[in-house]
Amino acid sequence: MKSFYQKLFLLAFLPLYISIPVEAQENKKLRVVMIGAHPDDCDQDAGGTAILFAKMGYAVKFVSVTDGRAGHQTMKADDLKKRRFSEAQEAGKRFGVTYHVLNNHDGELLPTLEARLQVIKEIREWQADIVIAPRPNDYHPDHRYTGILVQDAAYMVAVPSVLPGTPALKNNPVFLYFQDFFQRPNPFRPDIAIDISTVFDQKIHAMDAHESQMYEWLPWIGHYAEQVPANKNDREKWLATTRAVPITNEVRASLTKYYGDSKAAQAKHAEAFEICEYGKQPKEEDIKRLFPMLGI
Ligand SMILES: [Zn+2]
Repeated sequence: MKSFYQKLFLLAFLPLYISIPVEAQENKKLRVVMIGAHPDDCDQDAGGTAILFAKMGYAVKFVSVTDGRAGHQTMKADDLKKRRFSEAQEAGKRFGVTYHVLNNHDGELLPTLEARLQVIKEIREWQADIVIAPRPNDYHPDHRYTGILVQDAAYMVAVPSVLPGTPALKNNPVFLYFQDFFQRPNPFRPDIAIDISTVFDQKIHAMDAHESQMYEWLPWIGHYAEQVPANKNDREKWLATTRAVPITNEVRASLTKYYGDSKAAQAKHAEAFEICEYGKQPKEEDIKRLFPMLGI
C-alpha cells in the first residue's frame, strides 16, 4: 500500500516522466506505424504523409489488420489473399515503407483480446513514436474494429505485464486518427493537416500497385467499372482523378494554421489527422517536432 505522499509524488510526476520524448533520450530516428483494416487503407488515408516521413528518414510501417481475402468479385479467398500480400509489398516499396499484413480474415474482424495483442505487438516491435489508425465510426465493420483495437492498445502498449514476451514501450506514442467524413456521433476534427501536393503523384503510383482493388474490386462494387481505362498506361492518370480527396474548409483552415495563408491556399492535396485522447497528448512544440514537414 502506497503512502499518501508516495501517491501524491506519482500523481505529480508520472505525467512528466511519460511526456519525455524517446528520441530526446536516445537521439534515435522517429518511428511511425499506420494501422488499417485492409491492405490499401493506410495507402489511401495517409500515403502522402508516409512518403514525406520516409523522405525525412523516419521509419514507417503500414499494418493491415486483415488479409484482404474478401475484396474481390470473382477471385477465391486464398488466391486473393496471396495476390493482395504481393500488391502490398510492391506498394510498400513505392511508398518507402515496410508493409505487414496480419492473418485475420477480411470481412470478419472482431475486437477480440487476441487481435488486441497482435496490435500491441506491432506497435511495440516498431518502437512507435506515432501511431495512426481509423476512428471507430465507419461504414465498414473491419475499419470500425481496427479503430477500437488501436484505441484498446493505446494504453496497454506501456503496460509490461500485458504481453510480457514483447517489451512494453517506455513512452506512450502519440495516437492519431485518419480523416473520414462520417458525422455521427461527431465529425472528424483536423488537428493536423499535411500538404501532400509535392508527393501526390508518387502516392498514386504506389496505390497503383493494388491492381486488384484500384482497377477491379473497388470499381465493381462502386458501379463504375466501365470507367477503368483499358490501356494500362492511362490508369494512373485516371486513378489520380478517382482517389483525390477534396480539401474541406476545416482541413484548409488547419493547413492555414501551419503553412500560412498563401501556401495553404495553393495546396492541391492534403491529408489530415485528429489527435486521439488516449495516448501521449502532444503540445504544439511536440507536433512541430514530430511533423517537421508542417510549414515547409
Ligand atoms: Zn478498408
